[in-house]
Amino acid sequence: MLDLVTIPCLTDNYAYLIHDPDTGQTAVIDVPEPGPVLAALDAHHWRLTDILITHHHDDHIQGVDALRARTGAMVLGASADAHRLPRLDVALDANCSFSVGRETARVIEVPGHTIGHIAFHFPESRLLFTADSLMAGGCGRLFEGTARQMHASLAKLAQLPPETLVCSGHEYTTSNLRFALTLEPDNPQLISRAAEVASFRAQGRPTVPSSLATELATNPYLRAHLPALKTAVGLPDADDVTVFAEIRARKDKF
Ligand code: ZN
Ligand code: FE
Repeated sequence: MLDLVTIPCLTDNYAYLIHDPDTGQTAVIDVPEPGPVLAALDAHHWRLTDILITHHHDDHIQGVDALRARTGAMVLGASADAHRLPRLDVALDANCSFSVGRETARVIEVPGHTIGHIAFHFPESRLLFTADSLMAGGCGRLFEGTARQMHASLAKLAQLPPETLVCSGHEYTTSNLRFALTLEPDNPQLISRAAEVASFRAQGRPTVPSSLATELATNPYLRAHLPALKTAVGLPDADDVTVFAEIRARKDKF
């Protein structure tokens, strides 16, 4: 099993370290800035071996080159986005596998926020790195892809085991749940999650990772197929993608 460390970066970004205690291999997922990642490596006496990139946005890659220079780690990212990512040592294709220590990870394409966005799934450790695709209580904005693409991306992730830990890229949970409550004010799990998140934030604690089970029960973007959500957005007879698109559009104006 891999060790997981959540690293707050910039104002509301997260990087993550995963570490295989048997081999010492250590990877970071996204590098919003190098300083906090280097500090976390020092604190654990870990040596960075791999840098995994989810997508090309600056707030996820701008520390990659500095971190590579300091550590000599290999950089892995989507081959389809190689032209707009830092130089890749390993270009990853859809559904390909790679390993961190003894553990094998699978690359899952999750277009929507950007076309080339990928997620990393480590089935044995039950870790899923989603950045700005599936987020805690929400999903990323549709900058490049369509609602249909993002809906399909999230549907793929929703199939993974419910105990999977979703490691997303930002601390947006408070506002995501505030919005979710406008759609499902009577959802008991959503109400208790919002209270828990408020207390975590009051203590300055991250609200990530979250379990996929929690997301399935409270994240409106995973619930567009439910009659309650369709009715909440005034589209009781619409198909799931239309309802998903309406939920996403309402959040953009929220
Ligand atoms: Zn982004
Ligand atoms: Fe981002």
